[in-house]
This record gives sequence, C-alpha cells and structure tokens, in this order.
Amino acid sequence: MKTMDTRSGEQKTFEYTKLIMAQGGRPITPTLPGADLDHVFTLWTLEDMDKISHHLEENKPKNAVVVGGGFIGLEMVEALVKRGLKVNVVETMPHVMALMEAETAGFIENELLSYGVGIHTGAGVINIMSHAVKLDDGTILDAELVLLSIGVRPTLQLAKESGLEIGEAGGLLVNSQLQTSDSDIFAAGDMVEIEHRVNGKKVRIPLAGPANRQGRIAAENALGGNHHYRGALGTSVVRVFEAVAGTTGLSLKQARAAGMDADAVVVHKEHHTSYYPGAETVTTMLVYDRNSGIILGGQTAGYKGADKRLDVIATATAAKLTINDLADIDFAYSPPIGTANDAINMAAYTAENRISGFSPSVTVSELDAFIEGKNPVFVDVRDIFAYQKSHVKGAVHLPLEVLMRQIKTIPAGYPIIVYDETGKKGHQALRTLLGVGFKDVTNISGGHTSLQRQARTTGFKHLRIDLLPVVLKSLEKEASKDEEKKEEKTIDENSPIIVDVRTPNEFQSGAYPGAVNIELDRLMERYGELGNNKSRDIVVYCASGARSAYAQRMLAQIGYTKVRNGGGVATMMAKRSTQTSTATLSSEPLIVDVRSKEEFSGGAYPGAVNIPVDELQHRIDELGSKSREITLYCASGARSAYGQRVLQQLGFANTKNGGGIMQMMMKR
Ligand SMILES: Cc1cc2nc3c(=O)[nH]c(=O)nc-3n(C[C@H](O)[C@H](O)[C@H](O)COP(=O)(O)OP(=O)(O)OC[C@H]3O[C@@H](n4cnc5c(N)ncnc54)[C@H](O)[C@@H]3O)c2cc1C
Repeated sequence: MKTMDTRSGEQKTFEYTKLIMAQGGRPITPTLPGADLDHVFTLWTLEDMDKISHHLEENKPKNAVVVGGGFIGLEMVEALVKRGLKVNVVETMPHVMALMEAETAGFIENELLSYGVGIHTGAGVINIMSHAVKLDDGTILDAELVLLSIGVRPTLQLAKESGLEIGEAGGLLVNSQLQTSDSDIFAAGDMVEIEHRVNGKKVRIPLAGPANRQGRIAAENALGGNHHYRGALGTSVVRVFEAVAGTTGLSLKQARAAGMDADAVVVHKEHHTSYYPGAETVTTMLVYDRNSGIILGGQTAGYKGADKRLDVIATATAAKLTINDLADIDFAYSPPIGTANDAINMAAYTAENRISGFSPSVTVSELDAFIEGKNPVFVDVRDIFAYQKSHVKGAVHLPLEVLMRQIKTIPAGYPIIVYDETGKKGHQALRTLLGVGFKDVTNISGGHTSLQRQARTTGFKHLRIDLLPVVLKSLEKEASKDEEKKEEKTIDENSPIIVDVRTPNEFQSGAYPGAVNIELDRLMERYGELGNNKSRDIVVYCASGARSAYAQRMLAQIGYTKVRNGGGVATMMAKRSTQTSTATLSSEPLIVDVRSKEEFSGGAYPGAVNIPVDELQHRIDELGSKSREITLYCASGARSAYGQRVLQQLGFANTKNGGGIMQMMMKR
C-alpha cells in the first residue's frame, strides 16, 4: 500500500498482510449555481468549522440559510440563532428529520418555529446568489451565509480503484465479519454498507456508534478473531434548543414498506410524577409486529427523558422483546425520577389493547386512510377551552364529563373516532361508548397533541384542524427556564375562565380574546364543561351585564364559589390590560383590527391587535417583517381594503383583507 504525506509530499510504501479501511465519508456538495461562492459552506471537519467561524467574525452576516434539515443541519441552525442570525432551513422532504415520523419531527419543527427559525419543507434550493438563495417554489430567502448539509457520501475512490466490490446501498460491501470482497481487507464506519439489525436490509448508517463497534470487530477479525457484526439499529437522537427527539429500529412507514405487518401506538406522558416539580411530557411511539408483538423500533420526543425511553426501545428492539415483555418490566421509579407506570409501560399497554381489540386505535399517520375507508364521525371529548382553541372541523364536541348525559347527540350508524388531548381520556371515552352498545369505536393514539404535530408537518388530506399558535421563546428565557416555568404555572392556575353567555351569533360578532361561549339558555346543560374545580375563578359576561348577573347566580347555586360578573363586553375589553402585544413570532401570521379603539373595545377577533387605519403608517414597526402574513379587518371590509393598500405601498408583500368582523368570526 502506498501513502503520501500530504504536507511534505513524501511517499512511502507499506506491506500488509491484513488491511483495515476506515476512510469515512464526505458531505455531498450539490452542483448548484453559486455553490462555489465564498459564503457557502459544508460542515464535516474542524477546519470546516473554523472557516464558518471566520466568516461569522469577519463578515458579520445577519442571516443564514441551512440547506438540509438533518441532525447536523439543525444543530447548526441552533448555533447560528445563538450567534444572533435570522435562520431559514430548507428541506426537500415533507418535514425536517426525514427519517422520523411526521409527528415526531413536528415536535422539533415547533421548537424551531418558537425560536423564530423559518422552515421551508417540500422545497429545494435551485440557485445561490451573493446575498440570497432561490427555492424551486419561487421563494427568495436572504442568505449572507449558506450551509449545505444534505447528506454524506462514502469515500470510495480508493476502494473502487483497488477493485473492491460496492454494494446495493452504495457503500463498500462487507460480510458480517466486516471483510470486503478481498478477504485480507476489512472495512468499518461510514464507508461501508451493513445489514439493518431488524429486517436484514442492506443500509448505510453513517453514525458514530456503529462506526466504533465495527472498528473494534474489524480489528479483532483482522488479528485472527471471528466476531460477527449483528447489524445496526440506526439509533439516532437530536437536541435542538431544548427539544430532544430520536428514532431507533424501523419507523412504522419503513416497517410497512418492508412488507411487515406492523402497527404503532403513541403515548404522551410525564417523564416523572406530575406532582413533583419539573415534570415534562415525553412522547413515546412503539412500532411492533402485529402478529408476534415483537418490537421493531420506536421514536421518542420531549424536553426531558426522551433519550432514556429511546435507549429502552433500542435495547428491546435489539433483544427482540415483545410488547408484553415491555409491559411487564419494572423501571426505576421515585417521584423525581419516573412514574410507577413508565411511559414505556403505558405505550406497551396501549399496544396490547390495540392488538387485542380492547381499545382499537390509529396513529395520526394512518388517519387519512382510515377516513377514506370508513368515513367516521369524530368525537372530541376534551373540555370547552381546549376545544375552542383547536379541534377537528366537524367533530361532535362531548366532554368526557357530559358524554353519558348527551350520548344521543352522536349520529347513529357511523364508525366513531374519539380523541382527547393525549389519548388517555380518549381510551376512557371509547370504553364508555363500547359499554353502551356502540360497535365501531377507535381512539386516536396520541390524541390532539399528535394531531397538531402531524398537521404542523405534513398535514392531512381528509381532515381539517386549526394549528395552535406557536409559543414564542427567547434565548434569555431559556437560561432561566425553570424560574419561568414556575411563573407560568402560577399564572395558569390563577387565571380565570372567561365565559361569554351571549348567543353564538353575538359571540361571532366579536368576543373577549380567549373567552368561551356558553349561551345562558344552555348553561344548566353545559356547566359540566367548566370542569370539576368548583373553586376556580370564573368571570361571566354578556352584552350589558344583565344576563351574566343571572348566570352568576345560577353557577353560585350549583356550587361554584368564585364567579364574578364582568359586565358587558365593552367593559371587559376596556379592563383588558395593555398587555396586548405584537410579541407573536415575526414569521407567524398577524391579524390587525383597523377599527377605532372604541369599536375594538366592543369585541374583537381573538388574538387580533388593534391599529386604527389612520395610525397604520406610523406604527408599522409593530408589524414585524415585511414578508409576514398580515390579515386586516374592520367592520365592513372597506377600511381594511384601504389599510391593505397602505401596507402594500410600504413594502409588505403578504397582506390580506379579511373583510368585516362578522366574516372573520364566521371563518374561525
Ligand atoms: C458535525 C458532525 C456531527 C456529528 N454528530 C454525530 C452525532 O451526534 N452522533 C453520531 O452518531 N454521529 C455523528 N456524526 C457522524 C460521525 O462523526 C461519523 O459517523 C463517524 O465519525 C464515522 O467514523 P469513520 O471512522 O467511519 O469516519 P471519520 O470519522 O470520517 O474518519 C475517517 C478519516 O479517514 C480520513 N481519510 C479518508 N481518506 C483517507 C486516505 N486516503 N488516507 C488517509 N486518511 C484518509 C479522513 O480524513 C477522516 O479523518 C457527526 C458528524 C459530523 C460531521
């Protein structure tokens, strides 16, 4: 074997009896116009990082585009945001972290959006210019720095020139002893293709864990050993800002594509007991063979505890444990550490219930096919507050607490899909419905939380659901997150429920932001929707304060101890502190009410900010970026049409006239 010292140019020839190749790979550089410009980088080595760092220090770019939403790309997004850049990520697949299920990736996309990162999925860069990039959907993004992170190609030139065989997945072919087609040459790491540990398919898994284990085995065998490599699970995990998500083994999509009879379940559960401070929800998805129950893989996502569950699933997958095995494992429990029924146990129980038919469920990725095949009626069993924020369009709303009393409102003769926030109460509702004679009831695994994540990424073909607004986070807040969490909790617990007791028509013409609408005439029938906590603060209001006074007395008679009469809607709006702000994400759509302050205080579209039309020109700083989607409305649509023209003249490219307030409320 010949070598050359790359600094001195000195060449040497070495003799070998056994050789190990571990040349790794290199990032793929696309042949794009502009890919060779000075502000375009790839990241693989420390030298690459130094070049990027130097560009940041010398040229102080204000914005960047990261091409590729894989783990290296996303880790760089975080690093660039932390350096103060406005970052957009472009990904040709329907969501970032393409190997994950859409709903797991949805958790990561939410985190990116909450830090103001622009996400352009299903789109590719076609041209890189000196200060911008152009996408194939026509979008132009500012880019004073471009990072290409679209994958890694194995380094194979030497292997090819030496006549070694290349495999079907495009990596250097090795057998289970990691011997190449020349029995004296072994190979390991990113340059080889190996078998997937679950289905035996040839794959390239360019990750550090497999590379290390292969290195040990190749060395052992080169020295005369006989160690067989058992394949890789592809366990990988990413942390973006504070969000962690990972995958191991096969996803549901991959398992079914490989012809396996696979199913999956999802649970969202606290990573340690909920009463112990600091509990965070961890999402656990288990993929398993429907007949044998053998675990094929899984995915996890959360702020805390996602890595721990992922490693349990990886271990179970490698050991070919079944869901019954997982259901029966005792995991470490103490209140600050876990729960007596760990998320893994719960996911396993859920899978057992899906298999046995005791509690049939579907994941959100299966919903479109389910709707096509069964045309079900959706039943939302959450409380009114959750329902009003976002629900499946057309769903019958029957909170679990009133389900039995109002069961007749469910149309007969249709298959039923129930959902709650996480899947847990959905299961209770399902068992209730089956108990009273309904025959075909299915629960949505992961409930509304999973629906939101799927809707955020790929969306649905046959189902419509409003996306919840992204909660804006800041890097400073991240540092003092625990403090902030405590604060948030206090605000939540103390914040009153606002109930608008006017008719739905009056409510539609403008309401107090965040208020729920329970008409006075239906209060006795629907008060169960206010929850069981009778000492919670409740503020009732109507048009003048008269109907709400009556509602206040009714609720007091039923036992609610802290009900206040807020009076008329105008009084409520006037009392509203000036906390209304435009501090929504600058990339999030903004709704602007261009009526006068007086009109606004008589009721407005929830979440709208009030900038009277004649003040618009002087207050554009409050609107954020000029590419932001802005919808204006007024009383009839006339002032908002004028406002739209004003904004267009000032360079706002994405404005809409929402028309009159009635129109806006009807569209909700
Ligand atoms: C930014 C970044 C972050 C990553 N993060 C993670 C992570 O969090 N988790 C994870 O599992 N994986 C991660 N990876 C992937 C991981 O680094 C690789 O899978 C792993 O390093 C592969 O090991 P390897 O030995 O096959 O190749 P490498 O580590 O790439 O080593 C190959 C070496 O061979 C040298 N070489 C090539 N050709 C020749 C030649 N002809 N003569 C002499 N030398 C040669 C190369 O210069 C290189 O130094 C990351 C990769 C990058 C770039």
